[in-house]
Amino acid sequence: MSHSNISIFVPHVGCPHKCAFCDQRTITGENDIPHAEDVRRICEQAIGQISNPQDTEIAFFGGSFTAIPRSYMLELLEAAKPFVGDGGFKGIRCSTRPDCINSEILSLLKDYGITAIELGAQSLSDKVLGANERGHSAEDVENAAKLIRAFGIELGLQMMIGLYKSSIADERHTINSITELSPDTVRIYPVVILENTRLAELYRSGEYRTFDLDTVVDIAAYALLKFYDKGINVIKCGLHASEFVERDMVGGFYHPAFRELCEGRIYRSRIESALASAGISSPRGTLSFEVRKGCISKAVGHRRENIDHFASRGLNIRFTENDTLPLYTVKLQ
Ligand code: SF4
Repeated sequence: MSHSNISIFVPHVGCPHKCAFCDQRTITGENDIPHAEDVRRICEQAIGQISNPQDTEIAFFGGSFTAIPRSYMLELLEAAKPFVGDGGFKGIRCSTRPDCINSEILSLLKDYGITAIELGAQSLSDKVLGANERGHSAEDVENAAKLIRAFGIELGLQMMIGLYKSSIADERHTINSITELSPDTVRIYPVVILENTRLAELYRSGEYRTFDLDTVVDIAAYALLKFYDKGINVIKCGLHASEFVERDMVGGFYHPAFRELCEGRIYRSRIESALASAGISSPRGTLSFEVRKGCISKAVGHRRENIDHFASRGLNIRFTENDTLPLYTVKLQ
């Protein structure tokens, strides 16, 4: 079933923090904060244009929605609520910080038709959260996630790869901990170091040394596969293209086809495993593999990098489609 969001950005307002990686106005690309009349106008326009409002949610993204002044949050929710329900949109989703969730807030949000909450978890390592000045702990993430689930609200978790002081072991710990929390959705963002952030200072001083792109792709590929195996929907992998990000980026990992890179990496390792299982240690010539229908381009890799990778070892690989195979599976013919 296709799902879409009517995104309304609520930039930085109300957030008392300044996380080491965050320049919220750069991320959202919007300086003005929306008010009730903006919400009504956006919803009225969208409802006239969208053929499937029941598969669509109004989404308050961009900051810490539950930490904005209460009267402003209620203004936005009051404006959105009439557009939810019979003949309208499926619900409302919002993003917020883990330490800005409690039972009182969740009861209120539920009354206004909130159907999904996305928590900026970023890392489940207290060392990494502290180094990046998040101002909350891994336990806060776990408690908020459990409470959201207990209220019957869809849970989304957002993680960042390659934060300051994070090791490969920390990344794996975060991925495994997120998997245990069983969110409905996950967003995976490799760190993009933006101008006017603490990370930019640390990066320029040489104190913050980032992973190389290959390592980040390996970590994200591990995450994609782990979440897929547990039935967790990865709704984003890599930052979306934005002139603001490209203009203000001073380092880190922005690639317009990041998910494609990661999925290609998964298929490469699956091909290696299929060869090992068949006892083929020094493959030569041409071999064919079956992949799920519609997945040949993922298996071939971004700019044919898997074809080139195996060709450099003397092996030509070919793919055919097999309707019965699951995603990320390859079968040697
Ligand atoms: S809590 Fe969110 S909005 Fe606030 S500084 Fe951190 S990342 Fe930015």
